[in-house]
Parts: sequence; structure tokens; C-alpha cells
Amino acid sequence: MTTAPLHDELEYLTRRYHLYRRRYQVPAPPEIDRLERNIRRRRIQLAHLHDEISRLERHAATLAAEIAGYRKGLVALLEDFIDRTARAHGEHWSPTPVIGYRLWRVEHGMLHGAWTVWDHPAHEAVCPTPNDEDVPHLAGTCSGYGYGCGIYAAKSPHELADVHLTEDADDFVIGAVALSGKVVEHEHGYRASHARVTAVVVVSAGRRVATSDPRAVAEFFDDPLGADLDEAWEPVDGDLVAIGRWLETQGGQRWTSENDGE
Ligand SMILES: [Zn+2]
Repeated sequence: MTTAPLHDELEYLTRRYHLYRRRYQVPAPPEIDRLERNIRRRRIQLAHLHDEISRLERHAATLAAEIAGYRKGLVALLEDFIDRTARAHGEHWSPTPVIGYRLWRVEHGMLHGAWTVWDHPAHEAVCPTPNDEDVPHLAGTCSGYGYGCGIYAAKSPHELADVHLTEDADDFVIGAVALSGKVVEHEHGYRASHARVTAVVVVSAGRRVATSDPRAVAEFFDDPLGADLDEAWEPVDGDLVAIGRWLETQGGQRWTSENDGE
């Protein structure tokens, strides 16, 4: 018995079969003829199937590319339609700042929001896509989180604390922000193009101090570990509910050119 693969063995035997038939003028046995015909027919069918599969694969790739193109076009058209409709109704440009609430944490001597470092009380939104016009975008397709780009702020300090802080949290910074420029409203919060911190409460190791003094806020955002938290700061007594109430009363003062500080 040979160890060669079947097709090699079959080729070798077929050659010898024809040789012997020629040599001794023996007619082809019908069962051998039949098997050879069956193999030939199926080879042809198989070749046709492979052609068909390649054709289908090419067709599928074309369809997928067309879908991707149409989706891209649709995103652009939807974004344009929504932006134009919103602008036409003037509902997304806020003439007076809207007050929202945010959380930060101190890390490596800097204040960190959920996604970026805040080294100044004023912050301007950027879009992760190259399209930096008319931020925050309304279509919500431009960031991997939430509703899209923009500076996020909650509508209520209580809800913000409920969602993001535990009852005994003692290492965070919570503040009120005046949102201006383009402000998009959502159910529980806002996305804005511009934000400025108007009041802040620092909670660390049992210490709770607060300020709404623009200069003190600016100093704190510039250097959260080095800032003097005594002058222009006041202690806030009570739990998260009390902190929220303080922010609601102190953070609501409108940011005007007088206290802009720049
Ligand atoms: Zn965007």
C-alpha cells in the first residue's frame, strides 16, 4: 500500500490503466467509465460554484461599500437639517447663561472633569471629529459617549450627586457652571459650547468649603492643591443635600462682563 495522497495514487493508477488498455487492446469497463464521468461532471459543477461564490462576494462587498457611503451622506444631511431647523427656531442659542452643575476630582494637582482637565474656570467645547463648527453638534454621532460633543452639565446638583456620588463620598469638587453660546437641552442636563464655573464646593477629608468669588474660583482651578481655601471661602455644613442647596442659591449669579475677570 502506497503512502502517497489519494489523488497522486489515482493519477498513477489511471496512467497505468490506460497503458494496459492500449497495450492489450482491452475495452474500458463501464463502471470505471461511469466513475470517471461522475468525477469530471462534478469538477465542472464545482468550478461553476466557485465562480458564483466569487461573484456573490464581490456583489456583497459592493453593497456594503454603497451602504457605508449612503450612511455617511445621511449623517451629514441629518446633522445639517437638525442644525438648520434648530437655528431657524432660535432655541439653541442662549442669550443669558443657563446654570448647570458639574463634578470634578483632583488628580495629580489638576482638576479633572469626566473627559478633560479643567485648568481654568472657563471652558470651551471641542468636538472629537475634525468638524469644529457649531459645537456642540446636534446629531449626537460625533462622540463615543452620551449625546455627542459639548460641555456636559446636570440640571440639578441633587440629581448629579445622586447619580455620581455615594452618601459618604469625601473627595470631590462640585460646582455650578454658567453655560453660554450654543446650549442643547436634554432631559437631565445640558451640552454647551461654553461654560464658566460660578461657584464651587470642595469636599476633601471631611472638610467642606465653598466659594462663589470669581477670583477664588479662578485660583482654585489654576492650582487646586496650592490655592488658599480660607480667604474668600466659607464652610458648608451638612450633607450632599445641603451642598446642593448652597450651589443652587450661590451658583445662579449670572456671569457678566463685570465679573468675567479677563
Ligand atoms: Zn461634535
